[in-house]
Amino acid sequence: MTRPTLMLGRAPADRLIDELRRGFEELSANSGPVTMQTIKCGESAAVAGYEKAVRRTFRRVGVTLRGSTFPYEVDDEPLIEEIDRANDDPSTQGVLLFEPLPPHVNAELVKSRLSPDKDVDCVTPRRLGDFYSGQSDVAPATAAAVIQMLDHHAIAIEGKRAVVVGRSSVVGRPAALLLTFRNATVTVCHTRTLALDEELRRAEIIVAAAGVPELVTSDHVSEGVVVVDVGTNYVEGRVVGDVHFEGVSKKAKAITPVPRGVGPLTTVMLARNLFNLASAGE
Ligand code: NAP
Repeated sequence: MTRPTLMLGRAPADRLIDELRRGFEELSANSGPVTMQTIKCGESAAVAGYEKAVRRTFRRVGVTLRGSTFPYEVDDEPLIEEIDRANDDPSTQGVLLFEPLPPHVNAELVKSRLSPDKDVDCVTPRRLGDFYSGQSDVAPATAAAVIQMLDHHAIAIEGKRAVVVGRSSVVGRPAALLLTFRNATVTVCHTRTLALDEELRRAEIIVAAAGVPELVTSDHVSEGVVVVDVGTNYVEGRVVGDVHFEGVSKKAKAITPVPRGVGPLTTVMLARNLFNLASAGE
């Protein structure tokens, strides 16, 4: 049995970071430094980890971050005022709102206040509309990272049967759409899917984004499958994916580990979104 290709995020991330650093340098030389505003509520562990990764990536591409932190108890109004300020600030080219927002905040209202021209994470109705109609070079970052991972490892997408497990608006649905744009035949599975195992066994490409530790096991997959595991689950102090790596990697042609798979690419996709927004506004 040959070993599967281990699809690590580091190499494609490093390559893109180099490209983006050069791009931002040129942009800054022409129209001044590029700056992104981040906004967060409270100090949860999940947001802290993501924020650290965002800071690291943006430092590497040469973008200055400005951060605002609100208490977890914050209401909609101060967040909306901060977003309005960032929207009107000509020295800021992008705004990133760390999610999840606290449950008492009207997340849709707050997110819709963002200027689509500064929406680096594709959360505003206009950006999402452009994305869903295939007219945008700004895409939800994690979904874009899935495609980037497959492309970097020269995995053919066109004509393949792809199964996406998860239909959230941030990961599953946009990943399914990007795979469709690339001419895969896509099935989206969720908690009401009647026979997940049967769907998975038919798949040539699996994107697991359910948030359920080791949901996908070797019994569920066919020989030669390509598996991208987006899941980031904390179990007894360690991070595990949605795929049982040890078992599934015995059958897979290529597989991402967790951690070190999709994760490192996600923040780079955010930086690419910022670059595309900042270039458009030049
Ligand atoms: P989410 O909003 O909770 O959505 C989970 C989706 O999975 C839902 O559509 C749900 O179905 C489906 N699902 C849950 N249990 C299932 C099961 N047993 N069988 C089939 N489908 C099931 O989560 P998310 O925000 O999309 O995140 C998914 C995972 O990706 C999480 O582990 C998260 O931490 C991770 N993540 C990673 C990155 C990264 O950069 N690597 C970024 C974002 C998220 P229903 O719609 O029916 O409820």
